[in-house]
Amino acid sequence: MRTPTVLQLRCPGCGGALHGTPQAVLFWCEDCGALQEVVDGRFVARRVQAAQPRLPIGKPRGHLPLWAFRVRADWFWPQGKARITRLWTAPDWVYVTAFALSNGFYFGDPGLIFTQKRVVLSPGASSPVVGGTRGLETAKVFVEPHLLSILDRREDVTGVELSCVVDEAVLWGIPYADDGTTLTDGILGLKLPGAALDEIGALRGWWDRRR
Ligand SMILES: [Zn+2]
Repeated sequence: MRTPTVLQLRCPGCGGALHGTPQAVLFWCEDCGALQEVVDGRFVARRVQAAQPRLPIGKPRGHLPLWAFRVRADWFWPQGKARITRLWTAPDWVYVTAFALSNGFYFGDPGLIFTQKRVVLSPGASSPVVGGTRGLETAKVFVEPHLLSILDRREDVTGVELSCVVDEAVLWGIPYADDGTTLTDGILGLKLPGAALDEIGALRGWWDRRR
């Protein structure tokens, strides 16, 4: 039997206190602003930056984490089948939420895949980012099925072979407004019922204490 590892919530970078919700695998350091992911019982630092809102949502109540994967994708059919003729360029970035919804697929955008739009995020003022329950490797698993699903809407993808390389992974803190019932992101204005977030109670409590 394996002995459970007890991790002290101290930033391995600077010794600062780490913060997260009860189910978190990503912890935010209040001293250096780094995000530490628990991988195999130890902390691994991840690049994080808070995104500048693109919509006038007022002062965000908090930021939720989002994985952005820069991808190079290519696909081909096995011998004997014509190659795709219509032009389609795979997106450069695939956005996978790092926060857990009770049923991510149900919400489409902004559920598991934050958006299928080709948005470009720009860094804003640094902000705490808690609520990350999906680590890098777990999130990466959704990239290829997502690319196949958007390709499938253009062509029958039976037998298609997709190759996909992830060149870069960046964590973004997405600003959210919250009217107490509905969360609205400041990037695309997509709405989520607060109750859809598994840890909404813990998140709201934490956001309000940091105000
Ligand atoms: Zn730190």
